[in-house]
Amino acid sequence: PLVLGIESSCDETGVGIVRGTALLTNTVSSSMDEHVRFGGVIPEIASRAHLDAFVPTLQESLHEAGVTLDEIDAIAVTSGPGLAGALMVGVCAAKALAVATGKPLYAINHLVAHVGVGLLDERRTPDGKPDAGAAAGLGAGKLPENLGALLVSGGHTEILRIQSITDDVELLGSTIDDAAGEAYDKVARILGLGYPGGPAIDKLARQGNPKSIRFPRGLTQPKYMGTAEDKGPHRYDWSFSGLKTAVARCVEQFEARGEEVPVADIAAAFQEAVVDVISSKAVLACKEHGITDVLLGGGVAANSRLRELTGQRCASAGIKLHVPPLDLCTDNGAMVAALGAQLIMAGIGPSGIGFAPDSSMPVTTVSVPA
Ligand code: ATP
Ligand code: MG
Ligand code: FE
Repeated sequence: PLVLGIESSCDETGVGIVRGTALLTNTVSSSMDEHVRFGGVIPEIASRAHLDAFVPTLQESLHEAGVTLDEIDAIAVTSGPGLAGALMVGVCAAKALAVATGKPLYAINHLVAHVGVGLLDERRTPDGKPDAGAAAGLGAGKLPENLGALLVSGGHTEILRIQSITDDVELLGSTIDDAAGEAYDKVARILGLGYPGGPAIDKLARQGNPKSIRFPRGLTQPKYMGTAEDKGPHRYDWSFSGLKTAVARCVEQFEARGEEVPVADIAAAFQEAVVDVISSKAVLACKEHGITDVLLGGGVAANSRLRELTGQRCASAGIKLHVPPLDLCTDNGAMVAALGAQLIMAGIGPSGIGFAPDSSMPVTTVSVPA
């Protein structure tokens, strides 16, 4: 099926088009620049930016794919989780399109959609653009069995188990406070590195000594971890707010002593703490659930150390790590379209237009039933 996917859960307005598992276009407009002076995504600004960006993004996506709205078989839209106002814009736009064209509409889970990119053909043109030639409808088309997904972004830090992408997804663990990307952004602010913090810390950390300071690894004490037989309450969960506070204290101590703050060392030690605990808990969750393949998603998937350490630990545990191209890791419409196409191919019916966006939609809801 030819499916148009709409994404607006955070600061990216995305419209992507797929034919089955073939990626036709993936057009994204981000309001990231407008959030720079605030050091984080401001929901109201993001919502307004979606309003401005939606129609041009839709037009560009259709134009690039060389298809008309008439030819589309179905529309898919992220209906949660995410920022309520931001979701509302994409959902209203999708409903309007569905009503105007008479096409079926699928209300889709954003987190599960991140996994949907694993089903797409990854053929690209030499300049890295999605290859329109891949529109023939040939795709890998099948996810590995025993699949897990590690989603790490500005809004999420989650490990999922995917038994079936259309109807059996389970949350194994998640952050209980800040998301990992959020921690990067907050720590970058403390260190005076600007927004978004991830790329800046990633770069600076290469010049620092990660062992110079030992920052806390949240929720790793025995009372949270338990044992494989008698699991603790947060065995596969993360917490990053204590780490952020520890970084702030550390900076204060250097300043109080009148010493120069070793920004590169702190960045490296902070990054090591984040990446260590993300990769160790993710691999543990996978091992204890018989997961043999893991897909990495979210903007923090760009992090060089996260890729390296998770790759190493997965390899030692006999787990295969899959890292999609970065533009498919960050929020985009193609992943929504890809999941929509899977639902159609699995014979699952559309959602109608009566649903409301759900900012805390659980992963067990892959798509909203009519
Ligand atoms: P969502 O949570 O809904 O997926 P988001 O917009 O919050 O959306 P993304 O756009 O996927 O998240 O990713 C942005 C986040 O990724 C920011 O927090 C940014 O700091 C972080 N990030 C980007 N590059 C890197 C990097 N190299 N290292 C660490 N973090 C990074
Ligand atoms: Mg974003
Ligand atoms: Fe996302």
